[in-house]
Amino acid sequence: MTPMFFLRSFIMNGLAVVLKKRVLVLLSGGIDSAVCATKLCTDGNDVYALSIRYPNSANAEEIDNAIFHAKRLHIKHVVVDFNFIEQLTVGVDANMSFNVGGAINNCISRGKVPMPMSVELLHVVALMFARMREIRHIYWSIHKDDIVGDSEKKIFEYLRALEGPATLGRYSSCKFELPFIGFSKKEVIEIGESLDVNFDHTHSCSSSSRVACGVCRQCVLRADAFESLHPKKLAG
Ligand SMILES: [Zn+2]
Repeated sequence: MTPMFFLRSFIMNGLAVVLKKRVLVLLSGGIDSAVCATKLCTDGNDVYALSIRYPNSANAEEIDNAIFHAKRLHIKHVVVDFNFIEQLTVGVDANMSFNVGGAINNCISRGKVPMPMSVELLHVVALMFARMREIRHIYWSIHKDDIVGDSEKKIFEYLRALEGPATLGRYSSCKFELPFIGFSKKEVIEIGESLDVNFDHTHSCSSSSRVACGVCRQCVLRADAFESLHPKKLAG
């Protein structure tokens, strides 16, 4: 191999890195974000991942899984601690949960009240994170089965509104991408299976437990999706 070959190879590899689209994926540690992160890597993007650790170990299992996938994919991963939320709930009967879509999506979870603005807070932090790294695309893996009622239109209205302030000043625009919004849970799992995503390291439950409750909307969605893809044989 000649020095010229090495030089050309060096330049081409450097160019490939430069030409890669830099993206941010919101990596919750559930099925959908693990599939989304894997797809973004497979498509050759320069992928960053952001996870949020909620107070009281509310999503400890998910965070462990998010770390697992980020390591497996060799992507840059930051876990931001949201423990300060506890300070906001002093004096409040805060039997609250952190849900996909939050108040925008009219989420209801096992009698708990969705933590107001928790998703919005996550998105603002994501915008901050993205702007500091000149990332123009943030991937949120909400899908068709996450949508309650006519929330889809509201979610798009909300995201477009949120992107507005982020472009103020000297900053470039940054857009939220919802690649799975037209896909069912089952279809997202199918994509994941084609990409060899390890679903043993995903957690879907809305309860704060490390063990899935089996009855919340997210648990039921997950079980139904896997069951329809891989029906269990009935005994006898
Ligand atoms: Zn559950």
